Amino acid sequence: MRKVYLDHSATTPVRSEVAQVVTEYYTNIFGNPSSVHSFGREARKGIENAREQVANLINGKPEEIIFTSGGTEADNMAIIGSALANKNKGKHIITTAIEHHAVLDSCKYLEKEGFKVTYLPVDSEGMIDLETLKANITEETILITIMHVNNEVGTILPIKEVGAIAKERGILFHVDAVQSYGKLPIDVNEMNIDMLSASGHKIYGVKGVGCLYLRRGVKLHPIMFGGAQERKRRPGTENVPGIVGFGLASELAGQEMEMENQRLTVLRDKLITGILENIPCTQLNGHRTQRLPGNVNISFEFIEGESLLLMLDLKGIAASSGSACTSGSLDPSHVLMAMGLCHEIAHGSLRLTLGRDNTEEDIDYVLEVLPEIVERLRAMSPLYNNRDKHRNHREECSICTLRK
Ligand SMILES: *Cc1c(COP(=O)(O)O)cnc(C)c1O
Repeated sequence: MRKVYLDHSATTPVRSEVAQVVTEYYTNIFGNPSSVHSFGREARKGIENAREQVANLINGKPEEIIFTSGGTEADNMAIIGSALANKNKGKHIITTAIEHHAVLDSCKYLEKEGFKVTYLPVDSEGMIDLETLKANITEETILITIMHVNNEVGTILPIKEVGAIAKERGILFHVDAVQSYGKLPIDVNEMNIDMLSASGHKIYGVKGVGCLYLRRGVKLHPIMFGGAQERKRRPGTENVPGIVGFGLASELAGQEMEMENQRLTVLRDKLITGILENIPCTQLNGHRTQRLPGNVNISFEFIEGESLLLMLDLKGIAASSGSACTSGSLDPSHVLMAMGLCHEIAHGSLRLTLGRDNTEEDIDYVLEVLPEIVERLRAMSPLYNNRDKHRNHREECSICTLRK
Protein backbone atom coordinates (compact mmCIF):
# COMPACT_ATOMS: atom_id res chain seq x y z
CA MET A 1 0.00 0.00 0.00
CA ARG A 2 1.08 3.55 -0.72
CA LYS A 3 2.16 5.48 2.40
CA VAL A 4 1.61 9.22 2.33
CA TYR A 5 2.74 11.36 5.26
CA LEU A 6 0.75 14.59 5.42
CA ASP A 7 1.34 15.62 9.02
CA HIS A 8 4.47 17.76 8.76
CA SER A 9 3.14 20.35 11.19
CA ALA A 10 3.13 17.65 13.88
CA THR A 11 6.67 16.52 13.12
CA THR A 12 8.99 15.82 10.20
CA PRO A 13 11.34 12.96 9.37
CA VAL A 14 15.02 13.66 10.07
CA ARG A 15 16.64 14.45 6.74
CA SER A 16 19.58 12.28 5.73
CA GLU A 17 22.23 15.03 5.98
CA VAL A 18 21.12 15.70 9.55
CA ALA A 19 20.91 12.01 10.50
CA GLN A 20 24.48 11.60 9.30
CA VAL A 21 25.93 14.46 11.33
CA VAL A 22 23.87 13.51 14.40
CA THR A 23 25.25 9.95 14.26
CA GLU A 24 28.77 11.33 14.00
CA TYR A 25 28.21 13.39 17.15
CA TYR A 26 26.69 10.46 19.04
CA THR A 27 29.56 8.11 18.26
CA ASN A 28 32.78 9.97 17.47
CA ILE A 29 32.47 13.56 18.66
CA PHE A 30 30.85 12.61 21.95
CA GLY A 31 32.72 14.84 24.40
CA ASN A 32 31.05 17.02 27.02
CA PRO A 33 31.33 20.55 25.61
CA SER A 34 32.22 21.83 29.09
CA SER A 35 35.35 19.61 29.21
CA VAL A 36 38.68 21.26 28.47
CA HIS A 37 40.22 18.29 26.62
CA SER A 38 40.13 17.84 22.86
CA PHE A 39 36.97 15.69 22.99
CA GLY A 40 35.14 18.48 24.79
CA ARG A 41 36.55 21.20 22.57
CA GLU A 42 35.41 19.43 19.43
CA ALA A 43 31.87 19.11 20.77
CA ARG A 44 31.95 22.79 21.76
CA LYS A 45 32.99 23.70 18.22
CA GLY A 46 29.95 21.85 16.86
CA ILE A 47 27.61 23.79 19.14
CA GLU A 48 29.13 27.17 18.30
CA ASN A 49 28.91 26.42 14.58
CA ALA A 50 25.23 25.51 15.00
CA ARG A 51 24.66 28.75 16.92
CA GLU A 52 25.92 30.68 13.90
CA GLN A 53 23.78 28.68 11.49
CA VAL A 54 20.65 29.37 13.56
CA ALA A 55 21.48 33.06 14.07
CA ASN A 56 22.10 33.49 10.32
CA LEU A 57 18.65 32.21 9.41
CA ILE A 58 16.89 34.93 11.43
CA ASN A 59 19.52 37.69 11.20
CA GLY A 60 20.35 37.48 14.91
CA LYS A 61 23.76 37.29 16.55
CA PRO A 62 25.15 33.91 17.65
CA GLU A 63 25.37 35.05 21.29
CA GLU A 64 21.62 35.76 21.18
CA ILE A 65 20.77 32.07 20.59
CA ILE A 66 20.01 29.83 23.58
CA PHE A 67 19.58 26.15 22.77
CA THR A 68 16.66 24.47 24.53
CA SER A 69 14.86 21.14 24.51
CA GLY A 70 12.45 22.47 21.89
CA GLY A 71 9.73 24.97 21.17
CA THR A 72 7.77 24.31 24.35
CA GLU A 73 10.71 25.06 26.62
CA ALA A 74 11.61 28.18 24.64
CA ASP A 75 8.02 29.47 24.92
CA ASN A 76 7.95 28.82 28.70
CA MET A 77 11.35 30.42 29.21
CA ALA A 78 10.52 33.52 27.19
CA ILE A 79 7.05 34.17 28.56
CA ILE A 80 7.46 33.22 32.22
CA GLY A 81 11.08 34.42 32.34
CA SER A 82 10.41 37.86 30.88
CA ALA A 83 7.18 38.36 32.83
CA LEU A 84 8.88 37.61 36.14
CA ALA A 85 11.87 39.78 35.24
CA ASN A 86 9.60 42.75 34.45
CA LYS A 87 6.81 42.40 36.98
CA ASN A 88 7.84 45.63 38.66
CA LYS A 89 7.03 47.52 35.47
CA GLY A 90 3.57 46.01 35.10
CA LYS A 91 1.69 42.74 35.10
CA HIS A 92 -0.22 42.75 31.82
CA ILE A 93 0.45 40.43 28.88
CA ILE A 94 -1.18 40.35 25.45
CA THR A 95 -1.42 37.18 23.39
CA THR A 96 -3.97 35.62 21.02
CA ALA A 97 -6.71 33.04 21.48
CA ILE A 98 -5.12 30.76 18.85
CA GLU A 99 -1.65 30.22 20.33
CA HIS A 100 -0.07 26.81 20.88
CA HIS A 101 -0.69 25.38 24.35
CA ALA A 102 2.96 25.99 25.26
CA VAL A 103 2.12 29.70 25.12
CA LEU A 104 -1.45 29.54 26.42
CA ASP A 105 -0.54 27.38 29.40
CA SER A 106 2.46 29.58 30.27
CA CYS A 107 0.05 32.53 30.27
CA LYS A 108 -2.42 30.56 32.42
CA TYR A 109 0.36 29.91 34.92
CA LEU A 110 1.15 33.63 35.06
CA GLU A 111 -2.53 34.43 35.62
CA LYS A 112 -2.37 32.26 38.73
CA GLU A 113 0.65 34.29 39.81
CA GLY A 114 -1.30 37.53 39.60
CA PHE A 115 -0.66 38.63 36.00
CA LYS A 116 -3.48 39.76 33.74
CA VAL A 117 -3.59 38.27 30.24
CA THR A 118 -5.54 39.56 27.23
CA TYR A 119 -6.33 36.91 24.62
CA LEU A 120 -6.87 38.78 21.36
CA PRO A 121 -9.75 37.45 19.26
CA VAL A 122 -9.27 36.41 15.63
CA ASP A 123 -11.56 36.69 12.62
CA SER A 124 -13.01 33.78 10.66
CA GLU A 125 -9.70 33.34 8.82
CA GLY A 126 -7.62 33.23 12.01
CA MET A 127 -6.31 36.79 11.59
CA ILE A 128 -5.79 39.32 14.38
CA ASP A 129 -6.77 42.97 14.12
CA LEU A 130 -3.98 45.47 14.79
CA GLU A 131 -6.35 48.19 16.01
CA THR A 132 -7.71 45.78 18.63
CA LEU A 133 -4.15 45.03 19.68
CA LYS A 134 -3.38 48.75 20.09
CA ALA A 135 -6.61 49.33 21.98
CA ASN A 136 -5.67 46.65 24.51
CA ILE A 137 -2.22 48.03 25.34
CA THR A 138 -2.09 49.70 28.75
CA GLU A 139 0.58 51.29 30.93
CA GLU A 140 0.81 47.89 32.61
CA THR A 141 1.56 45.92 29.43
CA ILE A 142 5.04 44.35 29.63
CA LEU A 143 4.87 41.62 26.99
CA ILE A 144 3.18 40.83 23.68
CA THR A 145 3.48 37.19 22.62
CA ILE A 146 2.00 36.27 19.24
CA MET A 147 2.68 33.30 16.98
CA HIS A 148 4.00 33.79 13.44
CA VAL A 149 2.10 30.93 11.80
CA ASN A 150 -0.78 29.07 13.38
CA ASN A 151 -0.06 25.35 13.60
CA GLU A 152 -3.62 24.23 12.82
CA VAL A 153 -4.91 26.48 10.06
CA GLY A 154 -1.62 27.89 8.73
CA THR A 155 -2.63 31.55 8.93
CA ILE A 156 0.40 33.87 8.79
CA LEU A 157 0.03 36.65 11.36
CA PRO A 158 1.33 40.22 10.73
CA ILE A 159 4.40 39.89 12.93
CA LYS A 160 6.28 42.82 11.43
CA GLU A 161 3.38 45.18 12.10
CA VAL A 162 2.99 43.86 15.66
CA GLY A 163 6.73 44.32 16.18
CA ALA A 164 6.51 47.95 15.10
CA ILE A 165 3.67 48.59 17.56
CA ALA A 166 5.53 46.85 20.40
CA LYS A 167 8.68 48.83 19.71
CA GLU A 168 6.84 52.14 19.57
CA ARG A 169 5.22 51.42 22.93
CA GLY A 170 8.40 50.03 24.51
CA ILE A 171 6.90 46.57 25.11
CA LEU A 172 8.79 43.28 24.84
CA PHE A 173 7.75 41.15 21.87
CA HIS A 174 7.98 37.34 21.81
CA VAL A 175 7.13 35.29 18.72
CA ASP A 176 6.36 31.57 18.71
CA ALA A 177 7.88 30.92 15.30
CA VAL A 178 7.93 27.12 15.54
CA GLN A 179 5.74 26.78 12.42
CA SER A 180 7.51 29.45 10.38
CA TYR A 181 11.18 29.07 11.30
CA GLY A 182 12.97 27.65 8.27
CA LYS A 183 9.81 27.99 6.18
CA LEU A 184 9.25 31.75 5.90
CA PRO A 185 11.79 34.58 5.90
CA ILE A 186 12.36 35.95 9.42
CA ASP A 187 14.48 38.95 10.33
CA VAL A 188 14.43 39.66 14.06
CA ASN A 189 15.70 43.19 13.52
CA GLU A 190 13.42 44.21 10.71
CA MET A 191 10.47 42.66 12.59
CA ASN A 192 11.49 44.13 15.97
CA ILE A 193 11.39 40.75 17.67
CA ASP A 194 12.94 40.53 21.15
CA MET A 195 12.43 36.82 21.70
CA LEU A 196 11.64 34.01 19.27
CA SER A 197 11.02 30.28 19.77
CA ALA A 198 12.01 27.66 17.19
CA SER A 199 12.12 23.87 17.13
CA GLY A 200 14.27 21.27 15.36
CA HIS A 201 11.78 18.51 14.67
CA LYS A 202 9.47 20.72 12.61
CA ILE A 203 12.27 21.38 10.11
CA TYR A 204 13.71 17.89 9.56
CA GLY A 205 15.96 17.95 12.64
CA VAL A 206 15.63 15.65 15.64
CA LYS A 207 13.04 15.89 18.41
CA GLY A 208 13.93 17.41 21.74
CA VAL A 209 15.98 20.37 20.53
CA GLY A 210 15.16 23.94 19.64
CA CYS A 211 16.15 27.43 20.62
CA LEU A 212 15.16 30.74 22.06
CA TYR A 213 16.43 33.84 20.33
CA LEU A 214 16.94 36.41 23.10
CA ARG A 215 17.83 39.92 22.01
CA ARG A 216 20.93 41.29 23.70
CA GLY A 217 19.97 43.22 26.81
CA VAL A 218 16.61 41.51 27.36
CA LYS A 219 16.49 40.10 30.89
CA LEU A 220 14.93 36.76 31.78
CA HIS A 221 14.19 35.51 35.27
CA PRO A 222 15.73 32.01 35.26
CA ILE A 223 13.32 29.11 35.59
CA MET A 224 16.00 26.39 35.72
CA PHE A 225 19.08 26.15 37.91
CA GLY A 226 22.19 24.01 38.11
CA GLY A 227 24.90 24.86 35.60
CA ALA A 228 26.70 27.54 33.63
CA GLN A 229 25.79 26.25 30.16
CA GLU A 230 24.37 28.64 27.55
CA ARG A 231 25.81 31.58 29.53
CA LYS A 232 23.91 30.42 32.61
CA ARG A 233 20.62 30.99 30.82
CA ARG A 234 19.85 27.32 30.23
CA PRO A 235 21.69 24.96 32.57
CA GLY A 236 22.26 21.27 31.82
CA THR A 237 24.63 19.37 29.56
CA GLU A 238 23.83 20.32 25.99
CA ASN A 239 22.14 17.95 23.55
CA VAL A 240 25.17 18.21 21.28
CA PRO A 241 24.05 15.85 18.46
CA GLY A 242 20.59 17.43 18.43
CA ILE A 243 21.98 20.96 18.41
CA VAL A 244 24.44 20.24 15.60
CA GLY A 245 21.63 18.64 13.61
CA PHE A 246 19.35 21.60 14.29
CA GLY A 247 22.05 23.96 13.02
CA LEU A 248 22.48 22.03 9.80
CA ALA A 249 18.71 21.65 9.32
CA SER A 250 18.38 25.42 9.73
CA GLU A 251 21.04 26.20 7.16
CA LEU A 252 19.59 23.77 4.62
CA ALA A 253 16.06 25.07 5.23
CA GLY A 254 17.28 28.58 4.48
CA GLN A 255 18.93 27.49 1.23
CA GLU A 256 15.87 25.59 0.03
CA MET A 257 13.15 27.90 1.35
CA GLU A 258 12.21 29.76 -1.80
CA MET A 259 12.18 26.78 -4.16
CA GLU A 260 10.44 24.55 -1.65
CA ASN A 261 7.73 27.13 -0.96
CA GLN A 262 6.99 27.48 -4.65
CA ARG A 263 6.68 23.71 -4.99
CA LEU A 264 4.55 23.30 -1.86
CA THR A 265 2.21 26.14 -2.81
CA VAL A 266 1.39 24.41 -6.10
CA LEU A 267 0.75 21.07 -4.37
CA ARG A 268 -1.24 22.72 -1.58
CA ASP A 269 -3.49 24.60 -3.98
CA LYS A 270 -4.04 21.49 -6.07
CA LEU A 271 -5.12 19.62 -2.95
CA ILE A 272 -7.40 22.43 -1.71
CA THR A 273 -9.06 22.93 -5.07
CA GLY A 274 -9.39 19.20 -5.65
CA ILE A 275 -11.18 18.68 -2.35
CA LEU A 276 -13.44 21.75 -2.48
CA GLU A 277 -14.48 21.07 -6.07
CA ASN A 278 -15.01 17.34 -5.85
CA ILE A 279 -16.47 16.87 -2.39
CA PRO A 280 -19.69 18.74 -1.57
CA CYS A 281 -20.30 20.42 1.80
CA THR A 282 -16.66 21.27 2.47
CA GLN A 283 -15.00 24.53 3.45
CA LEU A 284 -11.43 25.75 3.73
CA ASN A 285 -10.38 26.84 7.23
CA GLY A 286 -7.78 29.56 7.66
CA HIS A 287 -6.66 32.36 5.40
CA ARG A 288 -6.87 32.06 1.63
CA THR A 289 -3.69 33.98 0.82
CA GLN A 290 -1.81 34.63 4.09
CA ARG A 291 -1.28 30.91 4.47
CA LEU A 292 1.71 28.64 5.10
CA PRO A 293 2.64 26.99 1.79
CA GLY A 294 2.20 23.43 3.14
CA ASN A 295 -1.04 23.84 5.11
CA VAL A 296 -4.43 22.49 4.11
CA ASN A 297 -7.26 22.57 6.67
CA ILE A 298 -10.73 21.64 5.52
CA SER A 299 -14.01 20.95 7.30
CA PHE A 300 -16.31 18.21 6.03
CA GLU A 301 -19.87 18.78 7.06
CA PHE A 302 -21.75 15.85 8.68
CA ILE A 303 -18.69 13.79 9.59
CA GLU A 304 -16.14 13.70 12.39
CA GLY A 305 -12.55 14.56 11.62
CA GLU A 306 -11.51 11.66 13.84
CA SER A 307 -13.37 9.05 11.78
CA LEU A 308 -11.90 10.57 8.66
CA LEU A 309 -8.42 10.15 10.16
CA LEU A 310 -8.97 6.47 10.89
CA MET A 311 -10.26 5.77 7.38
CA LEU A 312 -7.37 7.68 5.81
CA ASP A 313 -4.94 5.76 8.00
CA LEU A 314 -6.32 2.49 6.60
CA LYS A 315 -5.35 3.84 3.18
CA GLY A 316 -1.83 4.71 4.35
CA ILE A 317 -2.47 8.44 4.62
CA ALA A 318 -1.32 10.22 7.79
CA ALA A 319 -3.15 13.43 8.63
CA SER A 320 -4.47 15.14 11.72
CA SER A 321 -7.69 16.70 12.92
CA GLY A 322 -7.17 20.02 14.62
CA SER A 323 -3.96 19.94 16.60
CA ALA A 324 -2.00 16.84 17.49
CA CYS A 325 -2.02 17.91 21.11
CA THR A 326 -5.79 18.03 21.38
CA SER A 327 -6.59 14.83 19.57
CA GLY A 328 -7.41 12.27 22.20
CA SER A 329 -9.71 14.80 23.78
CA LEU A 330 -13.24 15.31 22.54
CA ASP A 331 -13.15 19.10 22.78
CA PRO A 332 -13.12 20.82 19.43
CA SER A 333 -9.96 22.73 18.60
CA HIS A 334 -9.62 26.03 20.47
CA VAL A 335 -8.29 27.58 17.27
CA LEU A 336 -11.33 26.70 15.15
CA MET A 337 -13.65 27.75 17.98
CA ALA A 338 -11.86 31.11 18.27
CA MET A 339 -12.39 31.55 14.52
CA GLY A 340 -16.11 31.31 15.19
CA LEU A 341 -16.79 27.92 13.64
CA CYS A 342 -19.72 26.06 15.13
CA HIS A 343 -19.01 22.80 16.97
CA GLU A 344 -20.19 20.59 14.10
CA ILE A 345 -17.92 22.19 11.56
CA ALA A 346 -14.97 22.34 13.96
CA HIS A 347 -15.37 18.62 14.70
CA GLY A 348 -15.35 17.83 10.99
CA SER A 349 -11.97 19.42 10.32
CA LEU A 350 -9.02 17.68 8.72
CA ARG A 351 -5.47 19.06 8.62
CA LEU A 352 -3.13 17.90 5.87
CA THR A 353 0.36 19.42 6.09
CA LEU A 354 2.81 18.89 3.26
CA GLY A 355 6.57 18.59 3.36
CA ARG A 356 9.68 18.08 1.28
CA ASP A 357 9.08 14.38 0.72
CA ASN A 358 5.59 14.86 -0.79
CA THR A 359 5.07 14.58 -4.53
CA GLU A 360 2.24 15.31 -6.93
CA GLU A 361 1.47 11.57 -6.95
CA ASP A 362 0.78 11.81 -3.20
CA ILE A 363 -1.76 14.56 -3.81
CA ASP A 364 -3.38 12.58 -6.63
CA TYR A 365 -3.65 9.57 -4.33
CA VAL A 366 -5.42 11.61 -1.62
CA LEU A 367 -7.76 13.13 -4.18
CA GLU A 368 -8.50 9.63 -5.42
CA VAL A 369 -9.35 7.99 -2.08
CA LEU A 370 -10.79 10.90 -0.07
CA PRO A 371 -14.13 11.36 -1.92
CA GLU A 372 -15.00 7.66 -1.46
CA ILE A 373 -14.16 7.79 2.24
CA VAL A 374 -16.22 10.91 2.81
CA GLU A 375 -19.14 9.43 0.89
CA ARG A 376 -18.97 6.19 2.90
CA LEU A 377 -18.88 8.04 6.24
CA ARG A 378 -21.71 10.34 5.22
CA ALA A 379 -23.84 7.40 4.14
CA MET A 380 -23.62 6.15 7.73
CA SER A 381 -24.37 9.55 9.20
CA PRO A 382 -27.91 10.19 10.43
CA LEU A 383 -27.08 13.90 10.26
CA TYR A 384 -26.33 13.65 6.57
CA ASN A 385 -29.47 11.72 5.86
CA ASN A 386 -31.48 14.42 7.61
CA ARG A 387 -29.29 17.19 6.34
CA ASP A 388 -31.97 19.73 5.60
CA LYS A 389 -33.22 19.50 9.14
CA HIS A 390 -29.75 19.67 10.62
CA ARG A 391 -28.63 22.58 8.56
CA ASN A 392 -30.59 25.00 10.67
CA HIS A 393 -27.38 25.71 12.56
CA ARG A 394 -26.21 27.70 9.61
CA GLU A 395 -28.69 30.39 10.31
CA GLU A 396 -26.94 31.06 13.60
CA CYS A 397 -23.47 30.36 12.25
CA SER A 398 -22.32 33.41 10.38
CA ILE A 399 -19.21 31.91 8.87
CA CYS A 400 -20.18 28.54 7.45
CA THR A 401 -19.60 28.94 3.77
CA LEU A 402 -20.57 25.40 2.89
CA ARG A 403 -22.10 24.81 -0.48
CA LYS A 404 -25.60 23.36 -0.70
C1 LIG B 1 5.25 22.13 17.71
C2 LIG B 1 4.97 23.48 18.23
C3 LIG B 1 5.45 23.88 19.49
C4 LIG B 1 6.17 22.94 20.41
O1 LIG B 1 7.47 22.65 19.96
P1 LIG B 1 8.21 21.34 20.55
O2 LIG B 1 9.60 21.43 20.02
O3 LIG B 1 7.45 20.16 20.03
O4 LIG B 1 8.16 21.45 22.04
C5 LIG B 1 5.19 25.18 19.90
N1 LIG B 1 4.51 26.04 19.13
C6 LIG B 1 4.03 25.69 17.92
C7 LIG B 1 3.31 26.70 17.09
C8 LIG B 1 4.24 24.40 17.43
O5 LIG B 1 3.77 24.06 16.24
